Amino acid sequence: MELLKQRIRQDGTVKGTDVLKVDSFLNHQMDVDLFAEIGREFLRRFDGCGVNKILTIEASGIGIACVTAQFFHCPVIFAKKSQTKNIDGEVYTTQVESFTHGRVYDVIVSKRFLGPEDKVLIIDDFLANGAALEGLIDLVNQAGAQLAGAGIVIEKAFQPGGARLRAQGVRVESLARIQSMSQETGIVFTDD
Ligand code: 5GP
Repeated sequence: MELLKQRIRQDGTVKGTDVLKVDSFLNHQMDVDLFAEIGREFLRRFDGCGVNKILTIEASGIGIACVTAQFFHCPVIFAKKSQTKNIDGEVYTTQVESFTHGRVYDVIVSKRFLGPEDKVLIIDDFLANGAALEGLIDLVNQAGAQLAGAGIVIEKAFQPGGARLRAQGVRVESLARIQSMSQETGIVFTDD
């Protein structure tokens, strides 16, 4: 998606070897006009797939998922990071290792909001090692729901998540795929 790539080139900053900061428009301050174009593009790619729920993970996926849902006219569920264990069986639970914080979280979704009748589109801001996406797919599977695929805003294609998930047959649609990045050479996209 050209508009998104231009914005990443203009406002993205590379930290260390593997972290891209895009907090001026994507995951701290949010450019909702850009989000609308992102949502429109996700609809173009997943139109006709029968999506009736969008699933994301707190916190940074929520804004993008909500704007995207306005194009699909469906609810958004966000998997919550939780301290409480699944003792009463009312939630689906999985574990996700956070890329940015390096620790493992329990994440939960209430059984009231996801079930076998659902066709789910997962939305997230970044795909790196794939832990967040795999955790969300696990929740979809526990619910017996169908997975339409995953819509990712920025995939760091030099990290292993995208290749592994595609090899498992998951439809992953990333709007900008970064092949390499560094402070010296800048950001190179896979289709540059
Ligand atoms: P994964 O689970 O695929 O390793 O990482 C995905 C999650 O980590 C995303 O939900 C995102 O919040 C965070 N993340 C991964 N890489 C980056 C990055 O380069 N920059 C930022 N801002 N967040 C990232």
